[in-house]
Amino acid sequence: IHRNAGEVEFHQAVREVFESLGHVIAKRPDYADEALIERICEPERQIIFRVPWTDDKGQVHINRGFRVQFNSALGPYKGGIRFHPSVNVGIIKFLGFEQTFKNALTGMPIGGGKGGADFNPRGRSDAEVMRFCQSFMTELSRHLGEHTDVPAGDIGVGGREIGYMFGQYKRLTNRYEAGVLTGKGLSYGGSRARTEATGYGNTYFVQSMLETKGMSFDGKRCVVSGSGNVALYTMEKIMAFGGKVVACSDSNGYIVDEKGIDLELIKEIKEVRRERVSEYARLKGAGTQYIPDGSIWDVPCDVAMPSATQNELTGKDAQTLVKNGVIAVGEGANMPSTPEAIRVFQDAKVLFGPGKAANAGGVATSALEMQQNAARDSWTFEQTEARLATIMRNIHDTCAETAEEFGAPGNYVMGANIAGFVRVAEAMRALGVI
Ligand code: NDP
Repeated sequence: IHRNAGEVEFHQAVREVFESLGHVIAKRPDYADEALIERICEPERQIIFRVPWTDDKGQVHINRGFRVQFNSALGPYKGGIRFHPSVNVGIIKFLGFEQTFKNALTGMPIGGGKGGADFNPRGRSDAEVMRFCQSFMTELSRHLGEHTDVPAGDIGVGGREIGYMFGQYKRLTNRYEAGVLTGKGLSYGGSRARTEATGYGNTYFVQSMLETKGMSFDGKRCVVSGSGNVALYTMEKIMAFGGKVVACSDSNGYIVDEKGIDLELIKEIKEVRRERVSEYARLKGAGTQYIPDGSIWDVPCDVAMPSATQNELTGKDAQTLVKNGVIAVGEGANMPSTPEAIRVFQDAKVLFGPGKAANAGGVATSALEMQQNAARDSWTFEQTEARLATIMRNIHDTCAETAEEFGAPGNYVMGANIAGFVRVAEAMRALGVI
């Protein structure tokens, strides 16, 4: 703990995985050898750097950039870049640690990493965002490569930012290395269905959980927190599956539309105009509510899909959801439920899909983007989505079977942690003490 002092989110993520591992060590004591567990918790490399940039008024700003290259036993480091004022080394480390096991669960040859900066893109012009991305990539480019480290998007980093970063990388290296970043635009090497993949994938995962109880999304009342990339495409897929989404949010508040959220309008507000969700209530008028500062989990629902950020769903929120009859929870965000919330859901026998399994569809489709880039190919939307659906079904089944094998049927947290750990541990042992 002293080695990672103050990194509370990192401690939380490590503790959660380790709580599942007692069962593995009991069956396979050899995994406790070679300081394997200690090695798995220590990132292979952490890079922290200065990011100077100039705003539209000519004022210079200094941000801090990070890339944590956590584990490359299974393949090149792979994981998103986050731009948010809350970013610090502990948050990037927790995300990189989770990413390592998530990527292992996809069954694809990708290691784990994560990066970002404490830059707040909100209210910044396109030109400011571009200058920031160029400065960030000027340093980061030294550490990347299609066989070394392949970043993607995350909070605050979408298609626009990936485009600016790819442009700067290409300029600095004088190489069209399409596979160095994923989440690229379709005009320059991106994959169809990557934008949709995390939200769609989480919805597929929850659908598989519901099927184990003979249920489906049809007619279910759903609440999706956030209104960014993951949230929007979660809503889209829930609606396609016959569910009704009644609420979504941003960091200022949440909206409730009992008739069901109007997907086209919320997409227009968030993706095109880059405005707040309060604008939705203003435009829709009567019948729609905007609640600033409250908890979106007070809205009764059958299915909850937290898709904003870490620790957004507390023990108290979980108790409210259970009291209101929630059946299933699928984590679109990374570690959105606190440990107390997870305990409440599990005690109440709510179907609970942890982020490292349920939101793995994004990175899996990023790996499909790398495949297409390596083959100089471009697949159709249908072909890519079909691969995504199969991958999510496999991840669900792997978690369910592993939980069963280790004596905890229905415990997807344990299934995901153990299955991810075993795959990484096997590869690390084969590679020797490095
Ligand atoms: P976006 O930036 O597109 O959207 C983030 C959403 O969450 C926004 O609505 C934002 O509101 C809200 N939010 C962010 N930070 C906070 C906060 N501190 N408090 C309350 N609300 C907040 O990001 P994504 O949709 O890409 O990511 C959402 C989550 O999903 C993250 O946990 C990410 O790590 C995870 N994830 C993303 C993947 C992807 O493919 N994009 C893949 C796997 C996981 P506001 O606009 O007010 O900031």
